[in-house]
Amino acid sequence: MNDFLYKNGDLYCEELRVADIAEKVGTPFYLYSENTFASHLKAVDEAFGDIEHLICFSVKANSNLAVLRMLASRGAGADVVSGGELYRALKAGVEPGKIVYAGLGKTSSEIEYALNEGILMFNVESSEELMLINEVAVRLGVEAPIALRVNPDIDPGTHPYIATGLKQSKFGIPLTEAMAEYEVAHNLPGLKPIGIHQHIGSQILDSGPFENSVKKVANLAGSLRELGMEIAYLNIGGGFGIQYTDEEAPAPEEFARAVVPLLSETGCTLLMEVGRMIAGNAGILVTSVLYNKQGEEKRFVVVDAAMNDLIRPSLYQAIHTIAPAVKRDEAEPVKVDVVGPICESGDFLGQDVELPEVEQGDLLAVFTAGAYGFTMSSNYNSRTRVPEILVSGSKAYVIRRRETYEDLIRGEAIPEDF
Ligand SMILES: *Cc1c(COP(=O)(O)O)cnc(C)c1O
Repeated sequence: MNDFLYKNGDLYCEELRVADIAEKVGTPFYLYSENTFASHLKAVDEAFGDIEHLICFSVKANSNLAVLRMLASRGAGADVVSGGELYRALKAGVEPGKIVYAGLGKTSSEIEYALNEGILMFNVESSEELMLINEVAVRLGVEAPIALRVNPDIDPGTHPYIATGLKQSKFGIPLTEAMAEYEVAHNLPGLKPIGIHQHIGSQILDSGPFENSVKKVANLAGSLRELGMEIAYLNIGGGFGIQYTDEEAPAPEEFARAVVPLLSETGCTLLMEVGRMIAGNAGILVTSVLYNKQGEEKRFVVVDAAMNDLIRPSLYQAIHTIAPAVKRDEAEPVKVDVVGPICESGDFLGQDVELPEVEQGDLLAVFTAGAYGFTMSSNYNSRTRVPEILVSGSKAYVIRRRETYEDLIRGEAIPEDF
């Protein structure tokens, strides 16, 4: 399920040559394959086909409106973590009844917005948040459907920044306190507990942590029902890992085999918040070589993309495969750091990368950049954010244009008496 393949040394996205697209739009840019998005969504859907389920695409992984529309039109809902993401999901046409809202710092105006739109449920992260949602719901004269995000204290075996279900993590409510909090919620007039939520981390490459955490939370469903709560949904969050370089990523079926039997027993509808597995390998970042530079100890390839465009290598020590978009037969492999123009030593896309000799103007593809790529990009160093291009078969669409210098200063003001 990968639509970024080489033909005679030329990288293609579906039916289009990456180099041809680069010529039209300039570099750097994000390039997405519609077919890869769609086939990943389908693969997850089919893997969990034995049980009633809804895939809520995690908007923070890739929040472009066209991407959200494409997934929504294929049945996906959305997992949002801010009012802004809710706005995007609704603009893109995601049905409100398929939207779940997580995040541990929801404000009262965000809560009101979500209640007015009629989302499926809030994933609540603390007892004070519970009180605030109740307050807002009562004021609006509605009942807020909620799940508690329980923290099952499970080590997902991933980078510390993306492990979210451990005791020391800021997320969720400890499993031991969950029953009491559910009872509080059950007795408040503005709240209706309808689900249980967990999200233990991201880029998880083993189904074991899922199995263990689902075991823990599935028991809770029965206990809550005995207390008269109509628990209809069990949300296992996201986190399915994918292949970036040579790690072995389980197929969706493997995750399904581990949890579906446990979930079937509960009779709950399964909710999943899948981001990376759907979007990661559906996108690449295309960049041009600006300079070859020999340092005293290292060789650098300076490219026109930087950490502001793709921060994962700097932030998580993530390793992305980097390769020329047009391969030369005669090129010798050399070990280089691929670095951007930003004034930070942490600005690199790859370190000690084996790359064939490249020349100024050569195109490089940074693979597996479709998730947490553009969405984490910034304007640091006053760099304009890059365009996003979506390929569907032999057609390419600009789904976000390149920013201009004007965009950079939009909204700023110099006080008149300055
Ligand atoms: C980030 C996040 C996800 C998505 O994680 P992936 O690893 O991209 O699947 C799902 N749910 C919540 C609550 C998240 O914060």
